[in-house]
Amino acid sequence: MSEELKPCLLCEKSGYSMPRKIMIDNNKSETVGWACGCVNCDVHVYGDTQVDAEKKWNTRPVEDTLNRRIVELENKLADTKRKAQWELNELREAKDKRIFDLLEALAKAIGIADHRSYELEAKTKEAEESAREVIKLKAELYDLWKEMK
Ligand SMILES: [Zn+2]
Repeated sequence: MSEELKPCLLCEKSGYSMPRKIMIDNNKSETVGWACGCVNCDVHVYGDTQVDAEKKWNTRPVEDTLNRRIVELENKLADTKRKAQWELNELREAKDKRIFDLLEALAKAIGIADHRSYELEAKTKEAEESAREVIKLKAELYDLWKEMK
């Protein structure tokens, strides 16, 4: 055998390779070259020699073209998948950065609000202190006024 015999193109079962015999008489047969084929599908090719017949059996231009096209398309698909994955990663990174930026802005806003709230509390205490002072002064003034009477 010159090269490994390909499986049947139709059913994918292994093919046969044997001398081609034809009946010349009732009980006599003669070898006339070589035959390769598939018993299951009843397809065969003939050649003058084993090498010739097996070469014919293994020659499949349409199948070879289709296999090349499959490889080509598989590569294209893999390439497309890589690009899609890359774009997806870009989008995820952009989303993460946006979330980070928003959280940072939110933290800043909360910080400002906290600071203002602290200032307001301090001013309220100051005002309460002043009010108590005014009440105290009024009381002193009232006492003085009573003494002067
Ligand atoms: Zn077959």
